[in-house]
Amino acid sequence: MASKTSVSGAFLLFINLNEVSVIGKVFGMKIVEDIKEMQGLAESLRKQGKKIAFVPTMGYLHEGHLSLMRYGREIADVLVTSIYVNPAQFAPGEDFEEYPRDFERDVRLSEKVGVDIIFTTTDEQMYPERYQTYVEVKEVTKNLCGRSRPVFFRGVATVVTKLFNIVKPHVAIFGEKDYQQLITIQRMVSDLNYDIEIIGRPIVREPDGLAMSSRNAYLSVDERKSALSLSRSLKIAQEMVQAGETSSSKIIERVCHEITSEPYTKIDYVQICHPQTLVDVDDISGGGVLALAVWVGKTRLIDNCMLKEVGE
Ligand code: AMP
Repeated sequence: MASKTSVSGAFLLFINLNEVSVIGKVFGMKIVEDIKEMQGLAESLRKQGKKIAFVPTMGYLHEGHLSLMRYGREIADVLVTSIYVNPAQFAPGEDFEEYPRDFERDVRLSEKVGVDIIFTTTDEQMYPERYQTYVEVKEVTKNLCGRSRPVFFRGVATVVTKLFNIVKPHVAIFGEKDYQQLITIQRMVSDLNYDIEIIGRPIVREPDGLAMSSRNAYLSVDERKSALSLSRSLKIAQEMVQAGETSSSKIIERVCHEITSEPYTKIDYVQICHPQTLVDVDDISGGGVLALAVWVGKTRLIDNCMLKEVGE
């Protein structure tokens, strides 16, 4: 039996005429590129009563991704991750081409944390000629990143829908680093009656506070120093709240000041929103999440923190 306690969490897959049986020996990880093969595997595992956890990623893995995988390893029998840079969530002129990729390294890291199956595929399979179906989550995608990246959430909701239909997970795990994305997926799963549990996990940071991101690889040494103003400003905001401040505009003003005092930074947005609707709030008494997107040189970074939970 595949078990959470097996070394590296991996197990041997025995494939015979599309029938998959888990025979309970540690044997490494499987890489699946074909959509139909992944669907067949998922179906077999489900029939065997295995609980499937899924962590979708765009690769170039870091500790943030790995923390989601470790969590998935703990709560399920089979851990699937996808590594796919989804063109549908990049607008023309964004960094689709330059997005960092290192599949071999990703494979090594995934195996280390006990991933059982990596699903990785091609644009031709995901978006073949005459492809024309997209998923749109209307309201929670309007604000924040939805303003500056108009096709982003449509691309995310579409690819996650497709991946859910391919991997057939019982539970899918997302990082709170992409807070609006997490809320969007939760909304979509609820609206479309997906029988999948969505779990959000905390942001993993570098020791100096910078939120881990594949895009941090773009930063020069000096830009990286400036980028620390993002997490620093979130801390200042949390301290203001602890000291009794509830006015969004006062908090935002202080956050902006902290960020713009560094070279190379250009604010895309600094906003405080209702944690579920993501509509701006003037006062955080009823709940507030502080979200920011900042250009540091040519790199756009996002970060966020909860200032006050709803009903807290
Ligand atoms: P990405 O590869 O950037 O699309 O991210 C894949 C998943 O990893 C998403 O659910 C992200 O929210 C999550 N993630 C990315 N960075 C972090 C981080 N620093 N801490 C926690 N989760 C993260």
